[in-house]
Amino acid sequence: MKNVHVIQHPMVQHKLTHLRMKDTSTGKFRTLLRELALLIGYEVTRSLDLSTITIQTPLGESFQSKVLAEHQIALIAIMRAGIGLLDGMLQLLPNAKVGHIGLYRDVSTSAVIEYYFKVPNDLSRRKLLVLDPMLATGQSAVAAVDRLKELKPKGIELVCVLSSPEGLTYLQESHPDLKVYTAAIDRGLNDDKYIVPGIGDAGDRLFGTL
Ligand code: URA
Repeated sequence: MKNVHVIQHPMVQHKLTHLRMKDTSTGKFRTLLRELALLIGYEVTRSLDLSTITIQTPLGESFQSKVLAEHQIALIAIMRAGIGLLDGMLQLLPNAKVGHIGLYRDVSTSAVIEYYFKVPNDLSRRKLLVLDPMLATGQSAVAAVDRLKELKPKGIELVCVLSSPEGLTYLQESHPDLKVYTAAIDRGLNDDKYIVPGIGDAGDRLFGTL
């Protein structure tokens, strides 16, 4: 699929397998999600801009060397499960600003309702990495991107761990420009809209609320 990057790196695939296992403990699940965020983040940050600074090396040399340009990124965690990707991404980008969006699906109407929205106020100069481990129906992701586009950021990319073909199709129809990073595209959604074979409810597994 266009604009969908499946991260095939062996470390990512290994950790995803352990994330899928039903007997993986809450603590281990948290660790794996953090590590996956860091590894996927490594791919996502490939296109970051560099600027050049002059440094002094211990050998008395003055050297023009590259560092990440400032103010490039804001991380936007979709609550709850997106919080599980924050630490790993912040290990890579310790100075990134962070926003949170809270969304839930009304069971009677299936509408996505926003209950929390707090993002940095300088988004127009940043690219946004929207963090949500699960791209299932795609409704939350589309609602979040709709809302974030109103703030005219430099760009938006979605970072997830697992996605469904249905979610990817819906996202691409709604936002054809959006780049998606995922560790795998699973078979599809079950009647309860869970990704199968999947990892279960990522929020419940992350916070131990099963
Ligand atoms: N959200 C989850 O946490 N898991 C799924 O399988 C689908 C949506």
